[in-house]
Amino acid sequence: QPVVHFRNVNKYYGSSLAVDNLDLAIEPGQFVTLLGPSGCGKSTTLRMLGGFEMPTSGEIFLDGQEISQLPPNKRNVNIVFQDYALFPHLNVRRNVAFGLELKGMASDAIHKRTMELLSLVKLTDFAERMPGQLSGGQRQRVALMRALAPNPNVLLLDEPLSALDAKLRQQMQIELKSIQKTTGKTFIFVTHDQEEALTMSDVVVVMNAGRIEQMGDPHTLYAKP
Ligand code: ADP
Ligand code: ADP
Repeated sequence: QPVVHFRNVNKYYGSSLAVDNLDLAIEPGQFVTLLGPSGCGKSTTLRMLGGFEMPTSGEIFLDGQEISQLPPNKRNVNIVFQDYALFPHLNVRRNVAFGLELKGMASDAIHKRTMELLSLVKLTDFAERMPGQLSGGQRQRVALMRALAPNPNVLLLDEPLSALDAKLRQQMQIELKSIQKTTGKTFIFVTHDQEEALTMSDVVVVMNAGRIEQMGDPHTLYAKP
């Protein structure tokens, strides 16, 4: 059974159609990239899955349950935005712990999980630092671990690397892919950068004007004839 299934999903903003009869099934544990030019409907698709937009019509299933009308906190997904704003007044450890505290997890369990996640991205020694004392890449890693902390089945990433310089961006692509494989979560990543999509994805979904144009593994999609 697919972990995510969009069925005949349409999204209008006023009279303009942003997502056009989307049918998309995503298998669990895959790194899936939505690729396409600005305005083609990638973010809207992601936001509908996260619960920040409601479809105008159609159904969205998560683990077999229809969730299109549920609020974000009732869905087993989490989202990392482009600006990945950390809480500036909380240290690294408390940033990562935030979602677990909201859930009411016991404090020793929170500490254990938080330190495990920080160790996964080699930030153990930075646990007590404030966000302002971190590099861009380190902040990005903290934001990622904060989103993974509550153990969502699906992680949504909306152009999370676009603010980084080219070198760091390449490094983060490798790290993201490795974190996805280590955790076994389903990652759905949005980008307009074809190279980024090819480097990281198990499946690339090419979108244009609110529709899926092509879909497949990068080698098949971009094989030289
Ligand atoms: P992408 O992520 O591929 O850049 P979006 O999903 O952001 O595309 O946008 C798809 C279309 O919907 C665009 O034409 C955009 O201008 C429009 N759109 C997106 N969000 C809104 C909104 N909140 N209100 C009105 N129109 C929107
Ligand atoms: P993206 O990076 O996905 O292209 P945009 O920069 O187009 O995003 O949009 C940023 C924000 O502005 C989003 O929250 C989106 O919903 C909103 N937005 C985009 N297009 C429009 C629009 N035509 N009218 C109103 N809001 C919009």
